[in-house]
This record gives sequence, structure tokens and C-alpha cells, in this order.
Amino acid sequence: MAEQFDVVIVGGGQAALAASYFLRRTGLTYVILDNGAQAGGAWVHGWDSLHLFSPASCSSLPGWPMPDTPEGSYPTRDEVLDYLHRYEARYTPPIRRPVTVGRVERAGGKFLNIRTNAGDFLSRAVIGATGTWSAPFIPDVAGHEFFGGTQIHSAHYQIPAPFAGRRVLVVGGGNSGAQILAEVSLLANATWVTLQDPVFLPDDVDGRVLFERATARPGQRRRHADRRLWRYRHGAARTGRPGARCLPRGAPVRAHDGYGRRLARRTGRSH
Ligand SMILES: Cc1cc2nc3c(=O)[nH]c(=O)nc-3n(C[C@H](O)[C@H](O)[C@H](O)COP(=O)(O)OP(=O)(O)OC[C@H]3O[C@@H](n4cnc5c(N)ncnc54)[C@H](O)[C@@H]3O)c2cc1C
Repeated sequence: MAEQFDVVIVGGGQAALAASYFLRRTGLTYVILDNGAQAGGAWVHGWDSLHLFSPASCSSLPGWPMPDTPEGSYPTRDEVLDYLHRYEARYTPPIRRPVTVGRVERAGGKFLNIRTNAGDFLSRAVIGATGTWSAPFIPDVAGHEFFGGTQIHSAHYQIPAPFAGRRVLVVGGGNSGAQILAEVSLLANATWVTLQDPVFLPDDVDGRVLFERATARPGQRRRHADRRLWRYRHGAARTGRPGARCLPRGAPVRAHDGYGRRLARRTGRSH
């Protein structure tokens, strides 16, 4: 006989924990089915130097703040993992591990049938919180079978050392591509390819700024971003973070306000 719930959450990473926090207050019955062996979701599989781009104060799950890291630093993979482990220990969400959901089908009436390797579950609603890490997209490049080098996805990248002294092409302009390029390029002859020009934010515009702007009253928004941009133009930006190292000399620089509106574009900035 299948167990029955109001809600089944598929996946047990940070999205599932946040949903769980609020579900618990509703009195609905629910369960989290996660195929990870431990807490942490995608962060269990992250590379050694992986870190958030937002400070801890902007990265907390509901109910319990992420512990602060030293001023100017961002929580590392291990710090995020530790937080997620401790968050689970604190709230003891109803997680079953490891359970892999294979399919969700309509059952009779108002119910969905969630088929897993641990049996079937019936539920009136399903929240998909499976993230992206477990389904990396590796493009089928024509002729790749003749390529004698190594081809990996960022989901399987761990450290830069194996690439020392080699020619490396980093494909993709998101945070993963930028962080990996920043450390691989210190050891290897690295080239970065992206579909569009990478969008570089001033070095002191990070997740905190985007968060502040997203939650600021409309009149404050532009003033706030303009102040950050002014400091950047006048050399007050910090250096030493991957974003700063990635900025090639003379590269076009664009800043946006967190809503995709462009604030400035200029060239010739040297770092
Ligand atoms: C370089 C980099 C920097 C980042 N910086 C930030 C940042 O500053 N701030 C921020 O908020 N985010 C940041 N992120 C993104 C953040 O890490 C992810 O968005 C987050 O981990 C996604 O959480 P999630 O719960 O949606 O998914 P995940 O953490 O991927 O969890 C999904 C879970 O579902 C499980 N699962 C998958 N399929 C099934 C299935 N069929 N059955 C059962 N379980 C399944 C997986 O095993 C996993 O445990 C960054 C990411 C990168 C790569």
C-alpha cells in the first residue's frame, strides 16, 4: 500500500529545505525524497574552491541565518555544506535518503503517483526541487570521438592541478565558467568562450548589492547602484576575487541594476 501525503518534495537540496520550512507551518503532511546520500544537494559535488557569490547574510535559508564569514569573503563549499547539514539537524525535515524518484504519474482522483526505487507514494501535489547538477548538459560536438584530450562538465570538475601546463578551453559564461577559468588560467593556457560578451559587474557589486536593490524601495534603487558604480570608476573596487582576475585588460565593462537594465558600458578599463 503506497504511503499518502498532501505534498511530496522531490530533491533534498536548499530549495527543498526552504519549501519544507514553510510547509511545516501549514499542517499539511509531506515528505522529501532525495537521492543524495547526505545533506547538501549540489554542494556535495562542487569543486574544491567553489564558493557562493553572495555573502552569508544574503544566502540564509528561512528561519536560521547562515553564519557570517570574514568581511570581504564569501562562504566556501564546505561552509555551505556545514550550514546545510546543521540546518537539517536543527529542523529535522522529513527527508528520506537515498530515494530516487523515477516518474510522477496521474493516479485516480486528486492524487499523483510518485514512483521511486523505494516504492510508490501518493500525493495531492509534487514540488520539483531536483536542481540542475545531476543532469549536466554535455554538448555533442561533431568529431568529438577523434578528440584525444579530456572533456569534462563543471559538475565533474574538482581542482585545477590536472590541467597544469595544458591548453584548456572553458566554455560558458556563468558563475561556474568564471570561477573555473579564474583558477585554471593560473596554471594552464586557458581560453574562455561564451555565447555573449560576459557581463562583468564592478568588483564590489555582488549578490549583496543585487539583493539590496531587489528589496529596496523604487526611488532608492538607482541611487544605490549609481553609488557603487561611482566607487568602481574611481578605483575603490576591491581586487583579488575571481571576477576581478577574469576581467581582461581593455574588456568592455557593463553594469546592470539587478533587473537587467544597463547602467553603463565602457571600454578601456584596466585591472
Ligand atoms: C559557481 C556557483 C556559485 C553559486 N553561487 C550562489 C550564490 O551565491 N547564491 C545562491 O543562492 N546560489 C548560488 N549558486 C547556485 C546554487 O548552488 C544552486 O542554485 C543550488 O544548489 C540549487 O539548489 P536546489 O535545492 O535547487 O538543487 P540542488 O542543490 O541541486 O539539490 C537537488 C537535490 O535533488 C536530488 N535529486 C535530483 N534528481 C532527483 C530524483 N529524480 N529523485 C530524488 N532526488 C533527486 C539531488 O541529488 C540533490 O540532492 C551557485 C552555483 C555555482 C555553480
